[in-house]
Order: sequence, then structure tokens, then C-alpha cells
Amino acid sequence: MSVQRQQNLLNGNQGNAQRRLKFLYGIELEPFAIKLDVKDAGGEVVRKDFHILLMWEVLHEVQKIQKQFELSMLGPCGVDGPLHFWDNVATSRTHFVNEDPEWAPYRASTVPVDIHVDGIETYSNVPFLSYSWSSSLVSNICSFDLQFPILIVDEDELIWGVTDVQIVEAINFMVLVLGSGVVPEFDHLGRKLTRKLPSGAHIAAGYFGAFHAWTGDLKEKVQEHKFERNYLANFCCEWCIAHKVFAMYNAFNFDEHADWTHTETTMMQYYMTHVGAERSPWAMVRGWSIWFNLLDLLHLLYLGIVKDFVGTVLFVIASFMGPKVFLNDNLKELWTECCAWCKYHKYQHSIKVFSTNGLRWQDDNDYPEMDKRLKGANCKLVFLWLSDKLKNMADANEQLRCPLT
Ligand SMILES: [Zn+2]
Repeated sequence: MSVQRQQNLLNGNQGNAQRRLKFLYGIELEPFAIKLDVKDAGGEVVRKDFHILLMWEVLHEVQKIQKQFELSMLGPCGVDGPLHFWDNVATSRTHFVNEDPEWAPYRASTVPVDIHVDGIETYSNVPFLSYSWSSSLVSNICSFDLQFPILIVDEDELIWGVTDVQIVEAINFMVLVLGSGVVPEFDHLGRKLTRKLPSGAHIAAGYFGAFHAWTGDLKEKVQEHKFERNYLANFCCEWCIAHKVFAMYNAFNFDEHADWTHTETTMMQYYMTHVGAERSPWAMVRGWSIWFNLLDLLHLLYLGIVKDFVGTVLFVIASFMGPKVFLNDNLKELWTECCAWCKYHKYQHSIKVFSTNGLRWQDDNDYPEMDKRLKGANCKLVFLWLSDKLKNMADANEQLRCPLT
């Protein structure tokens, strides 16, 4: 693929992001150019302009409309959301928003920010890395509505240890601005900012933002954080010294008191053993720690074991609905019900009709499971609908047994 074509594709992606924001929220944002060192098709290092969407300008636009601010930033608990959230964080980990006395007056108005890094493959098989952000207070079901793009880069251009660090520097700067609540005079490269939202302007009417967590697939996690202990290595966990081969610290021992459970890595240990370039560039972001890399639930659950679970439950319910010859009719009926549930809850989806083929079931020698191609977001919706349905079925059953209560 030619360099020009790749650049067109990138610009197209960035353009899509802007159009999407305009379509969804009526937000018109002008892109902001940052300088990144990347390698060109010949492997030479070149400094290029990359368009990003400034996080504080997105927040500024979103908070102008109260309903939109609640939906996109505060989540279901509304104005109580941030305080509940930080209180909850304090029960398990230390975080500067809870520890720093200077932050104390602002905890209730600090929106926790998650940064997402996703590998995406376009129709032409070019791997891209997408950086985006969202409020930790909103569900990640409808990522289309709630996740805001920052930047997309072509992975073939990216120089690990250079480009990724520059990207984190830019994100770190934007997060710091969210924390200050005021548009700065200069950008992180020392260039004077001349934007529609001027320097000195308040960003979000008394609201602030602070980094809460990093999320991404296992692959991106290893790349971004340079974890030598990772899912492909024998030492398979960055949080402890679980090992795939050594009997001691056996990673496959799931006993409550397995040896590895006593080997939790502290941040002090991490810093002492990861110096300079060995350290994750995210260490520059205030609030980041290896403990604030969230589990990759999409891959662990919704592209993993939940597919088996959901497939089996669907199959069992459909089997109870009538003789096996009607299995496909029953599955279709369940699908209609699932779609109605999604519509009621205003969840967008592309769940294909349930069928024995879709469950990869031919006869009783097969184990029903959801199609491998089912997207994680769709699988999550089927799972949530089924939990709702099973609960209702259990309640109805209870009432049948106790008609007088
Ligand atoms: Zn571990």
C-alpha cells in the first residue's frame, strides 16, 4: 500500500471521527496538529503532523448540554457519580485524587477518565492503533456513543519507544489540562495555543478530569507498557510472579491461598526494577500504576467464556420451549425477544438471528456456543438480556410455587 494511500486512509479515519462527533452531539471541533516522529515506507525517521481531537475541547462541548454531559460523563448516578466512584476506588487502591489534600475539595467534581488503546484492522488489512477516552462512570456497552477519539496511527509507521512516548506525552498534557480546569496558554511542545476556546477559559463549568485507568487488549497492553511479564511469557502476569512452568508459584493453581497470591508487585518494586526506557511511558501520567491497567474484560469474558455460557443457556431454554424439530423456530423467537430488549434499553447492536448453525450445534455430540465471529459488544448484550430473562423466569417460578405471597 502506498504511503499516500495510507495517509488518505488516516485522514479519512480522523475525518470520520469528527463527522461522528458532529452527527451525534452537534459538536464541531477543529483538529489540532501534534508532531510525531514516525518511520516512512523506506524506514527513515520523519517528523509529521498528526491530527488529534483535544480532550478538553470535547469535554467543553459535551458539558454545554446538561443531558449530554450526564449521559457521556456522569453516568447513571448523575451528579453523585464522581464522589461514589472515588470513594469506591479508595476501598481497594490508593489514588492521588483520594490522597492529595489539595484535591479533596474537587473529588465530587472530578470525572474519572479512562484511556483506551485498541488495535484496529481496516478493510485493507492495515493495522492501526486507536487512542480514545471515556468517562469511567459510563457503561462501555455503547462505545459508539460514549468513547471519544483522540488519535489514530498506522502501526507500521510507529516507532516503539519514540512515537508511543510522544503520544503519551500529548495525552498526559491533555489530562493535566482537564485537571486544571482551564485552557492553557501553550501546548506541551511550548507552542502558543490559538483556538476558538481561548487560553484562560474555563473548560467545564466547575468540573475537572483525572486519569483513572488504562484499558486495552492483552496485545496492546504488552506493547504499550513493555511488560516483560505477560500472557505470552512463562512469568505470565505483571501483577505477581505466577509462573507457567515452576511448580512453586504455579499460575494454574486457582486455590484461594495459591503461592502466587502472596507475591503481589508493589509500585515501589515496579519502579525499582523498571528504570528509564524499561518503564512504561504511562508512568508519566499522574494516577497511573500497573494496578490501574484494567482487565481486558472484552477478551477475557465477552469474546471468551461468556460465548460458551450464553450458547448453552440459549440452547437449554430453546430446548425447553418444545421438541427438538422446532429448535430453530424457538431460537428465532428468543432472538426477537433479545432484539426487543435491546431496543427498549436503547442499545445499538448487530446481533444476527439465533440458530442451531449459529450455535455450531448439529447433534448432541456438539457443545452449543456462540459464533466465534460474534462481536464482543453484541455478546455482552445477549449476556445482559439473558441475565434479565433468567431472573424473570426465576421470579415467575417462585410466584408459581408461592401463589399467596
Ligand atoms: Zn498475577
